[in-house]
This record gives sequence, structure tokens and C-alpha cells, in this order.
Amino acid sequence: MPLSHYAGEILRRASHFVPPQAVLGLARPAAVFFHGVETAIEDPVVQNNHHTKDRFRQIAETLKTHFDVLPLAALDDVLARPGKHPRALFLMADDGYGNMLATADLLEEMQLPWTLFVSTHHIDTGERNPLFLARLFFRYARAGRYGLPHIDGIVDLVAGERTVEAQRVLARLKTMDEAHARQTLSAMQTALAQMGLERLTDLFPSDSFLSWADVAALSRRGVEIGAHAHWHWPMNAHQSHEDLRRQAALPRERIMAVAGTCRTFAYPFGNRGGICKAAWQAVRDAGYTHAFTALSGTLDSGGNNFLLPRYGLAREVSDQAAIIALLRAANPRLRRIQHLLA
Ligand SMILES: [Zn+2]
Repeated sequence: MPLSHYAGEILRRASHFVPPQAVLGLARPAAVFFHGVETAIEDPVVQNNHHTKDRFRQIAETLKTHFDVLPLAALDDVLARPGKHPRALFLMADDGYGNMLATADLLEEMQLPWTLFVSTHHIDTGERNPLFLARLFFRYARAGRYGLPHIDGIVDLVAGERTVEAQRVLARLKTMDEAHARQTLSAMQTALAQMGLERLTDLFPSDSFLSWADVAALSRRGVEIGAHAHWHWPMNAHQSHEDLRRQAALPRERIMAVAGTCRTFAYPFGNRGGICKAAWQAVRDAGYTHAFTALSGTLDSGGNNFLLPRYGLAREVSDQAAIIALLRAANPRLRRIQHLLA
């Protein structure tokens, strides 16, 4: 398991033994996020970004019961006076999948405000998330031995090896800059072309993106729209400063044209391995007021407004109240990372 998941995993395990009522008094203001919501998940490996609708409804009910789910407009007041808002919670969704339209209906019905962070290149083009395409390669490319650009050794897709090889190659891929990563991804897509890439992607409408008309409609319905970079790629120290600048600035222009404002940013793969000092500086310089990572912690932990914590709502847990109430346990690690990136 990557180091970045440890804090969340420890909290998840601890929460199995803790009834929410015992720890809700410890709650501090926090932000939580998810990606997509699907009626049914056919392939949990490929569709690993999506909750089932039933599970998601349970999660939303838990949040509504135990927390004050607030619109993002309240963020300044919560950060300034966290003691006044111990149960404040900001609900967020990343990427901008098409199933956000049905999710908006559900959250509207439950009167839960939320923020959607979109990766604007994918809204522009409909191009799938690069990690989705990579997962598709490891799942569906013909059994065989593949040489991929910028990947050491042969990628051995024989029975029993696919999961191990996927972990190895995806970890390497996420350290590449955009140009190199695109070459590796392109080789994966060439391999999938033999199987009919379009047919394969069509099997998973869950991972298709919203259109700009959809984003505009969500904005009109009161969903706050934030930026999640342009291309859905890590903004780590392996990226050039020019790429980081573009990844921060372009989505803000695009979103402001459609939604009127775009104040907040969320880093794709925003854990320790997916962010760097130059990234948050590029986000600050692009004119955003706040940016969210995927580091666990609470919003009252002080520190950098461009490295705010956010907890990813795990798919396999339906009652998340105890975990959210215990998020303060992750603050020392959060502060350490904020300090390292200062
Ligand atoms: Zn994302």
C-alpha cells in the first residue's frame, strides 16, 4: 500500500471499533470528497472511482445526520472561526464524470450543498482519464509481453501477473512528466486498439465526462464549480514549471467563462506523491483563494490555504461518521508535509 494511504487506512481500521456517538464530540471542520456514483458497478478494478448509488445514499445520509454540510461560501468563516463550526463539513466531487447529473438530483433532494472540481481538458475533449485508460490496458490488453516507452523491463501480461505489473507500472507512470506519460499511455492505447478501444471504453459509460453544457447547468443549479487541473495528471515535482502553470491557469479561465467564478482548486492525485511546492505556488499565482489536497486532516490545523486537507470517502465503508470525527489524528502528518512543502 502506498505510504500516502496509511493515514486514511489507519483511520478506517480504527473506526470499525468505534461507535460514531463515542467520538463525534472530537469532530473538527473537514472536507471530504468522492468521484462518481453509479447504479451498478460491473468491474470494480476498472471502475474504482465510483460508489454504488445505494452506498452513496447511505454515506450522504450519514453526513446529513451527523454533520453540518455547508456550501463552500462558508469556508472563510470556518477557517477563521473553526471552534464555532466543529461539525462543519464540505462535500466535494472530483474529475467531472457524467454521472454527476444524477448525483446532483440525489444531493439536491437531500438538500446537501457540494462542490464539483472538473479537469477541463476532459470536459473539452471527452478524452478519458489517463489512469482509467491505463487500468483498461492492464485488465483487457491481450495476454503477452509488452515493451512500453519509459518503463523498465518487459511488461508481462500473463495470467496472475496483471495486478502486480499494474501496480509497478502505474507507480512509475505517475512520476513521469506530461510528455513522457503521454507516450507511455499512447503505447497502451495502441495495444488496446487490437481489441477495439472504442468498444472497450463504451463498456464503461461511468467514466465518460460531463459536457460544458452539463457543467453550466450544474452551476445554475447551485453547484459550486472548482478546478481539478486541465489534464488529469499529478502536479508533482517531476512536472515542468510551465506545465504546472498551465495546469493551474487554464482550467480557471475555462470555468470562469461558464460559471462566472472559479475560486478553488483540487489537485489530481493530491496525496504526498502528487503535489509539490511549485504546484501550490502555481495555483496561488493563478488567482485561486484555496486549494485542496487528498491528505487527511481537519481544516482547523492552520498552515497553508493552498494545501488544505481533504478526506476521500472510501467505497467499502458505508458509515463514515467515526472516521470523519477522528480526522484530527492525521493533523501531525499533514502539518509535517505542509512544512516540507513550505
Ligand atoms: Zn481526480
